[in-house]
Amino acid sequence: MSNKTTPTVFDGHNDVLSKLHRAGGVSANKSFVNGRDGAIDLVSAKAGGFAGGFFAVYIPSPVDLEDKFDQMTQPPYDLPLPDLIDWEDAFPVVMAQAAILFDLEKRGALVVCRTAADIRAAMAADKMAAVFHIEGAEAIDADLHTLEVLYQAGLRSLGPVWSRSTIFGHGVPFRYPSNPDIGEGLTDHGVRLIKRCDSLGIMVDLSHLNEAGFWDVARYSSKPLVATHSNAHAICPHSRNLTDKQLAAIRESNGMVGLNFAAAFLREDGRMLPDVPLEQMLRHLDYLIEHLGEDRVGLGSDYDGAVVPEELTSCAELPKLRQAMAQHGYDDALIAMLCHENWLRVLEITWGE
Ligand code: ZN
Repeated sequence: MSNKTTPTVFDGHNDVLSKLHRAGGVSANKSFVNGRDGAIDLVSAKAGGFAGGFFAVYIPSPVDLEDKFDQMTQPPYDLPLPDLIDWEDAFPVVMAQAAILFDLEKRGALVVCRTAADIRAAMAADKMAAVFHIEGAEAIDADLHTLEVLYQAGLRSLGPVWSRSTIFGHGVPFRYPSNPDIGEGLTDHGVRLIKRCDSLGIMVDLSHLNEAGFWDVARYSSKPLVATHSNAHAICPHSRNLTDKQLAAIRESNGMVGLNFAAAFLREDGRMLPDVPLEQMLRHLDYLIEHLGEDRVGLGSDYDGAVVPEELTSCAELPKLRQAMAQHGYDDALIAMLCHENWLRVLEITWGE
């Protein structure tokens, strides 16, 4: 499927579902199927070689996203963690966004994939491959009954926290400059959640965890450590990025990191502004490859959830990133690994099929 200009991208993170939810669901006209105002839809995906990825269900906090991004244009910044969201408030939102995912599948827009083989089959059939992911476990109860049912419904990836606290652990606040060592580790409920995810075959996403939580997952999980959408702290000293020590642990576990396109985590100055040259993304990729190895780095765009480089505002423009990789000296085999193969490798290990 991949050729010299169009990549085949399987991506670690997008926020299409929460955006569609905010917009009132899957609409008939300006839709995911026909082309919408946003970074990912079927028309752009076809044009750019976007073959699928992790589709995040996300419960918004009652804070203004634009205000948040505005503060992040003016470093230094230190955004407080939003208040905890109760299960009663979170659960209907998760159900509504999951229903949007299955609605899209019913309309033939994508296939909800439960195994790595499902992803390969969808890609071979030229169908968008979607992994049902939840970013922030507010809708999971302490007894983990909802986790069992969500797994049966297709959930295969879970972030115990967004940048917020849950009964399971604590997210890392958006702070620049800062290391990610802010706050306490997983709670007892969190340790049980990680162990249950391991035994069910749900990938645990480390991207929004604080550093203490990261080390707790490293201690209690037997699976590869994965950060779906995070960058190198040595290049951009943002609290959301991964330190060399964390990268070493990810390498040791045979896990991986998806390169986040969000400007604030790419730029050395931490500003959420879109004038980011593609070379800055390659700097992070070089660094991640050096520290993790070629088979432990992928993409995690954060499309529809962040301010991204102006040359890559939608997935239709991914060929530019592929071209930049080639010009930078990455060969076809490495580009295929970064664009999709490494995700399939780590999911095969994590899910066991
Ligand atoms: Zn995120």
